[in-house]
Amino acid sequence: MSIAENLKGVQQDLPEGVRLVAVSKFHPVEALNEAYAAGQRVFGESRVQEMCAKQEVMPADVEWHFIGHLQTNKIKYMLPFVSLIHGIDSYRLLEEVNKQAARAGRVINCLLQLYIAQEETKFGFSPEECRSMLAAGEWRNLTNVRVCGLMGMASNTDNGEQISREFRSLHGFFNEVKAEFFAECPEFKELSMGMSHDYRLAVAEGSTLVRVGSRIFGERVY
Ligand SMILES: *Cc1c(COP(=O)(O)O)cnc(C)c1O
Repeated sequence: MSIAENLKGVQQDLPEGVRLVAVSKFHPVEALNEAYAAGQRVFGESRVQEMCAKQEVMPADVEWHFIGHLQTNKIKYMLPFVSLIHGIDSYRLLEEVNKQAARAGRVINCLLQLYIAQEETKFGFSPEECRSMLAAGEWRNLTNVRVCGLMGMASNTDNGEQISREFRSLHGFFNEVKAEFFAECPEFKELSMGMSHDYRLAVAEGSTLVRVGSRIFGERVY
């Protein structure tokens, strides 16, 4: 199957209003160009240098999403062009993005990453941490970041019931914080969940942004 055919297959699974982030990390620019030619405009990368290198050579209307774990010393390189940072996993990081975005004269769209999996290795806020960070209210002074929603990764398991339960809990938490902290913020509307093996389950649980890599581009070569 070609990249174009894979893309079409994934797109057909997505209802109106659910957007596809084509996760192109570790794949060469040729692969991204193939997806671009097939109409894909939103690409997700997990390393800042790699994303910057690709951004320089890809067409200007590509929307770049950063989906990886972000180190503060790398933020500045992507600020001129990044359109959404999915993985804000601490208040300190949000503050740092805000500070550097102010210097760059931009307002950066961000998602708060929640820890929903029953695994030890994933980054993210626990619901309690996220709730207390939002309740503290200081984030409202960060005028160079715009919190647009939440992101989460389910456990890496074949148990679809468990995956669905984790996505459902994230959606429930999204509704809760939307009502409590973002009732006046129409921009708080994104729920980034679902990857190659579980995006259908994520869509069924209310995902608005799926991040699909290997299902489109094939296995990654590290
Ligand atoms: C790599 C990655 C993806 C895509 O994973 P696939 O299984 O290849 O679809 C999605 N989200 C995040 C955060 C990733 O790091």
